[in-house]
This record gives sequence, structure tokens and C-alpha cells, in this order.
Amino acid sequence: MTPMTTASPDGPQDTVAAPRCPGVYIMKDTAGQVLYVGKAHDLRSRVRSYFREKGDGRPSVAILRDKVRTVEYVTTRTDQQAALLEDKLIKEYQPRYNIDLKDDKRFISVKVTLQEEFPRVLLVHQRTDDGALYFGPFTVTATARALVRAVLEKFQLRRCTGAHCRANGPCMYAQIDACSAPCAGRIPKDEYLARVHKAMLHVQRAQELQLVEPQAAKNPEP
Ligand code: SF4
Repeated sequence: MTPMTTASPDGPQDTVAAPRCPGVYIMKDTAGQVLYVGKAHDLRSRVRSYFREKGDGRPSVAILRDKVRTVEYVTTRTDQQAALLEDKLIKEYQPRYNIDLKDDKRFISVKVTLQEEFPRVLLVHQRTDDGALYFGPFTVTATARALVRAVLEKFQLRRCTGAHCRANGPCMYAQIDACSAPCAGRIPKDEYLARVHKAMLHVQRAQELQLVEPQAAKNPEP
């Protein structure tokens, strides 16, 4: 570990000052209070992600970003050392936003990849502006998981990952009748999309029936 600390002289936007190596970054407010401690494989790239317009996808990042005035760095030789140091500093400073950002990860959303030719329904922790439709957030992961499993089975939607169907034909999901196999042209596109639409209605209805708690992200239970 290199016990060297540097701060961006021109404020947090000056992420060029961040070293391109593993380490820990410490975000502070105007009073010097530690707001957040994080580790990174590439400090510059990680810290830069906070100051992009959409942050890194986590809801609390935008709030954190507005409060940060300085970012300090401690470089390490390895990622493992960075992880150990991060843990030590979080215990020492108990930064408020480490707790808030951890809470973001507690919530899960249902994502429908409408931007894809044959959309998928899946669970995600982060929402991005990628053309997909999102439902939730769900505070009970098991409920969300069961819901997604149910719609995938009921409407035989594809499970293969990626924007495109598997190029090499149907997989075991087709064999067990769990997928309508658009990869093999076994279902017309408009019929597949109609099934996706029904799946979305199903998820939406579940949300409205309070099987999920859409406001919970703003007022999480301790
Ligand atoms: S059967 Fe085809 S479309 Fe369905 S999950 Fe398998 S590879 Fe994907």
C-alpha cells in the first residue's frame, strides 16, 4: 500500500488528478466531513463515473455528487489491498453515503428489454437509460424473483442473455417447453411481442396490488 494521499486541486470535477491505479477514494464535503469511501481498480475511471451526468446508475449518486467538494486518494498495489483499506476506513469514518448507496443495492427492479428484437424479462439492481422498461423497485427480492420466474414460464419468454437470440439454435429451454424458441423461428415476432406485453401487464398488476412497494426506495425500512 502506498501511504500517499492526493486531493484534486480544482474540486471533484478535476478527476484527471486521480491516479490510474488501484486504491481507495475518499469523498468529503465543504467542512471536510467524509461522505463516502470507495475502492477501485482504476481510481480515475471510477471517480469519473460519479461525475457523469447520469452518475453510475445508483439513485443516491446524484445526491452525493452535489455534496462532494474534494476527493482524496490512497493508492494501493493490489485490488485486495484496496478492499481491505476500504473496509477499514468505512469502519473508522462510518460515512453516511456508504449506508445510503448500500441501501440502493437492496432494491431490485424488473427490466423488460423492449429495445431488443425479442425482449427479455429479468431482474436488475440498477436502472439505465437504455430503452428498456422498468418496474418496481421491489424491496423483497424473493417476491420479484418469483414474479419474473412466473411470467417467463407462463409466456415462454426467452432466457438466453444478450440482445440477440442464440445463433446456434434452441437450447434446453425449448426442449422442456419453457421457451417459445424465437431463435428457431418457432413463434412469429408479433406473437412473441404480444406475450411480452401480457407479461408486462402481469408485472404491473402485481405492483399495483402492493406485492411490491414502489415508494419503499424513498423510505427504506432500517
Ligand atoms: S430456446 Fe432459443 S430463444 Fe429460448 S432461451 Fe433457448 S436459445 Fe434463447
